[in-house]
Order: sequence, then C-alpha cells, then structure tokens
Amino acid sequence: MSSLQKGEPAVPTDPSKYPFELAAILSDRLRTAKQELVTRWLGRITARVTISTKRVFPTHELLNHVPLLIEGIAGYLKRPERDIDAKAPVVAKAMELGALRHAQGFDAYELLKEYEMLSEIVFAFLTDIAETIPGNHSRRDFLVCWERLGQAMELIRQATVSHFLRLSSAQINERENRLRKFNRTVAHELKNNVGAIAAASTALAEEWVAPSDRKEFDEIISRNAESLQRVLANLETLSRTQADSRHCRNVMLPQAASEAVRELEDSAKAKGVKVRVADDLPQLEVDAAVVELCLMNYVSNGIKYSDEAKPDRWVTIAAAVEGPDNEHDREVVVRVSDNGIGIPDDRRARLFEEFYRAHDETVTETAGTGLGLSIVRETVESIGGRAWAEFPGESGSVFAFSLPSRRSEDIRAVSELTGPAKETSP
Ligand code: ADP
Repeated sequence: MSSLQKGEPAVPTDPSKYPFELAAILSDRLRTAKQELVTRWLGRITARVTISTKRVFPTHELLNHVPLLIEGIAGYLKRPERDIDAKAPVVAKAMELGALRHAQGFDAYELLKEYEMLSEIVFAFLTDIAETIPGNHSRRDFLVCWERLGQAMELIRQATVSHFLRLSSAQINERENRLRKFNRTVAHELKNNVGAIAAASTALAEEWVAPSDRKEFDEIISRNAESLQRVLANLETLSRTQADSRHCRNVMLPQAASEAVRELEDSAKAKGVKVRVADDLPQLEVDAAVVELCLMNYVSNGIKYSDEAKPDRWVTIAAAVEGPDNEHDREVVVRVSDNGIGIPDDRRARLFEEFYRAHDETVTETAGTGLGLSIVRETVESIGGRAWAEFPGESGSVFAFSLPSRRSEDIRAVSELTGPAKETSP
C-alpha cells in the first residue's frame, strides 16, 4: 500500500536484464484474451455471491472497466519502466471497483477473494499458453515476467482494497454520528412520554380532578404509552436485525401481515379505522422482524394520520412479486395504502429522513418522533430492499417497501394464494 500512497516505484526493474521480447508476447496474449478472462472471472464471482450477474457489474461502464484492469496489467508487464502509482489510469479503475463493491455491501474478504480468483485465472491462462510461445526463452525470463505480473496484480488489488477500506471507515464514522443523534432523540422522546404518563397519573390520584378531566388524563396516558411501545418495538427490532442476521426468524408474508394487524387492533378501533389485508398476498417466506417492523410503522401511520372528516376510514396491506421475468432480479413489493390526510406536495421528498415530520404545524396533537420511516428505510436497505412512498390519487398515501426475491421457490410460490381476507373493524 505504501508504494501507492507515496508514489514510489514498486520494485525497480533492471532494464538491461528484462526479457522484453517474452514480456511483449505474454502481454499481447493477455490483451487479446481479456474479454474471455473477464467472462471467466465474472462467472466465478457470480457463483460465489448470491446476486445476479447483472448486479455484479450493474453498468456497462463498469463492465468495460474490468478489461481495462487486465489491459493495465498487460501494459505493466510490457514496459518495465512504467510504474503503477496512484496516478495510473488502471489504479483509478481499481478504485472504482472498490467503490462499487462497497456500495453493493461486499466485505473485504469477498473483495480479496475476487482478486485471488483473478490471479488464478490470469496465471492459469498464461500457464496454458506457455508451451505455445515462439522463440527460445529461458526459465529465468519466464520467472522475471511472472514476478512482474504478480507485482501488477498486487498493486491493483491494493488500490481496490485500500479505497474500499477508506469508504468503509467513512461510513462507520457517519453511522456512529447518526447513532449518537438517534440515541439523543430516543432518550428525549422516552423522557417526554414517561413524564406525561407520570404527571397524568399523579393528577388522576387527586380527588379534586373533575370527571370530565379524568377522561383527558386517561387519554394522555394511553397515547403516551402507545408511543412508548412503538419506540421500544422499533428499538427491539433494530437491535435484533443488526445484532446477528444469521438468527433471523422467517415467517410467511400473510402471517406477518396478520400479526401487524393484530398488534394494532386497539389503536385502529380507537381511531375508527378499518385495517384490511388483501386476500392475494403471495405465500413467500420473509424475515419476520424486518417485515413486521415495516408493517407496524406503515400501518400505525395510516391509523395515526387518518382523516377524521371521512366517515369511512381504511388502511390496506397488499403485496405482489414485481420485476423482470429473470428470477434473480424480482422483488416482493408490499404496499400499505390509506385514505388519510395525505402529505402536502412540498413535504414529500424528505419523508424518509430521520426526525422529519411532514405535519408538524398542521397536526400538532399527533405524537411521533419522525423516526419510524427512517428506521423502515434503513432496515429494508440493510437486507437489500427499498422503501418509498407513492401518491397516486387526490387523497391518502401509499407507503411501500420491497424485498429482494432471489429464490426460485419464492417465484413459483407466487401462484399459490392465501386464504380469505382478514379485517379488523372499529
Ligand atoms: P412520526 O413518528 O412523526 O409518525 P414517521 O417517520 O413515521 O414519524 O413519519 C414521518 C412523517 O411522515 C410523519 O410525521 C407524517 O407527517 C408523515 N406520514 C407518515 N405516514 C403518513 C401517512 N400514512 N399519511 C400521512 N402522513 C404520513
């Protein structure tokens, strides 16, 4: 790494002893075969990771960059005077690969493994063609070329991995800062809720409180207790999903939806909102903690932001498998629609930001932290999904999230439908 950072030549090569002729032949062969080598590499990477070939290198641009890595290695072999330092174009390509892998959530081990495979493929190719090289080249010449190639591979690997690690450490710092902010807000919210409950119950113990006021104090207690429950449930699910993804509990999607509806039955009744589950939810296995967290937040918002002016108030959970026919890139999309107060146009863009509340001035009595949607987004993204809002009609809103559906049995299962629609009525 130091040679790259300081821009020093990696290993000085004595030009008078360099086997230029052999190096030029090997280099040309590598160049000619670069596309084939990349295909082999890509095939082996795809076999290792669970994402599709399309996502391994999602853009044409990047797919074109990888042969450039091989070009760079070939050029380095041909010209011993050439140095691979931080300014070399091949290093920029290698760093882009590090950035892509970072964005795709790879870990450093996977990245190192990719380079190990690239070395194996390049050296296996050269070993295969060694006997077909014209001319009389000594074993020493071959060894010098091999050493030079090894160096090139190593420097490019270092460029990718060090850039990847730089990005990872910036991400960790940023997460730490957000976590600190998050802790502050949650502590503040919990303190407010507990304070309101304590004050209202102290007041209730006083004999002088009029019966009409008692109802109001009761409501303060239940509203704040509900908010406490929601914040705690979010925290619990967050710690479960982040602590150890291997211990995730899977349930069928319709079952997760029923569970969310059951948990919110009381608040739906209190606000006179009907919560329906569509009767054609795909029978797919999903991560229970993640899906329940998303549904609890979306549905409780649908209830919380219902429109009292409407006599018929509802929230509906629906889902479908969407995407191209290629089963690798399909996703399960879950939508929670409501006919509530909706969200003003100019407030929609920032909905999923932490602590953002779209109705701060208009609906002041509705308790909330502005954390629910950001937690939903962070949680689904941590397992490769997405979260967003849609505004199809004049009123109400649709909140959606998607989960990657990679397993072929998931796709097949789509045709099997669930039982009858379930509903909680006020
Ligand atoms: P909060 O704790 O404030 O409800 P959220 O992160 O869950 O936090 O939501 C952020 C904001 O988005 C809310 O304050 C509200 O203004 C708006 N919002 C969320 N869901 C709905 C909905 N179904 N209908 C209308 N507004 C919503």
